[in-house]
Amino acid sequence: MPLRFSLLVFPREKHLNCSNLLCHCNRRRLLDGGSSASIGINVNTVSAYATAYSTAMSAWTSMTDVSITQDGGANWAAVSGYYGNTGWTGHTSWTCNLLYRRSSVASQLNRTYLDPYPAGKRALVAMHELGHGIGVGHSTVANPVMYYCSGCSYDAGTRTLTADDIAGANARY
Ligand SMILES: [Zn+2]
Repeated sequence: MPLRFSLLVFPREKHLNCSNLLCHCNRRRLLDGGSSASIGINVNTVSAYATAYSTAMSAWTSMTDVSITQDGGANWAAVSGYYGNTGWTGHTSWTCNLLYRRSSVASQLNRTYLDPYPAGKRALVAMHELGHGIGVGHSTVANPVMYYCSGCSYDAGTRTLTADDIAGANARY
């Protein structure tokens, strides 16, 4: 039976400790059986949110040692939808196998909150979710993309990955 873990991005929210996340934080490979630092995402959503994911993929790929590209693979599905007043703008979950390696990842963007956001803010939330997908936890300093509230970082002026985000990703790959 696979173990499932998830991280939520709350508009005003809680902080999850990376040490609780097992395979999310502790394994260097993107997915069990995958290559060390390259992965494809199957983006299946309307164009505004496909753009957000695309911007997010480009940022991680161009600024860190990780490469994320769009493909039709089933191991990482990225979607959007009207999930209601759930308390989160984005959500990423993953399945761990018995070796505590990720065997699949799923990312969701909640249009209930995100539709009124400017495109750049939606992209920052997507960037945050993909960060979780590659194994980066929440930052404890203010205003990187991986701050628990990425929308707050956007409001503070953050527009793309910061040095803290880049160090977080490169430390794992
Ligand atoms: Zn998060």
